[in-house]
Amino acid sequence: MRVISIPCPHCQNRVRAAKSRTMSSMMKEITYQCQNVECGHTFVATLEVSRTVSMSAMPNPEVRIPISSRAFLAAKNQLTLDLATV
Ligand SMILES: [Zn+2]
Repeated sequence: MRVISIPCPHCQNRVRAAKSRTMSSMMKEITYQCQNVECGHTFVATLEVSRTVSMSAMPNPEVRIPISSRAFLAAKNQLTLDLATV
């Protein structure tokens, strides 16, 4: 599995996720530690769901996620196809 992170904002070195805290089903805070011993920076970053690219087949009615323009066009085209076959 690929791990997504950002480099240390001060020295651009690799960082390690030290801990994470779930804020909601849409957001998580992650504490990172820079692996450069001469830097030692520790910081918190936010991981947030920002938009839907492909629609879920199991949508949760309580979840509201903006739809990307590409996903919107794909859903619109599928609806047009569905209506054309009725
Ligand atoms: Zn650093």
